[in-house]
Amino acid sequence: MSEPGSSPLNIVKRDDVTPICPHCDKPLSEIFAKSQGPGFVMGKDTMYFCPHCSKVLGFSQSRMI
Ligand SMILES: [Zn+2]
Repeated sequence: MSEPGSSPLNIVKRDDVTPICPHCDKPLSEIFAKSQGPGFVMGKDTMYFCPHCSKVLGFSQSRMI
C-alpha cells in the first residue's frame, strides 16, 4: 500500500534567491502577469511571463467562489 502525503520533499522558503528564467537564463527580479478573458467571467486565468524574453512561465486559475 502506498500512502499519499508521505513524500520526503521539503519546501523551503527562500526570499534571498532570485529565480532564473528557463528560456533566456536571466534573473527574474520580477515577472509580468496578464489576465486572459473578459473580467466579468468567473474563474479567469492569469498568465505569467518573463519581462526579458516575454515567454510564458506558467498559468494560474483564480476562482471567486
Ligand atoms: Zn526569459
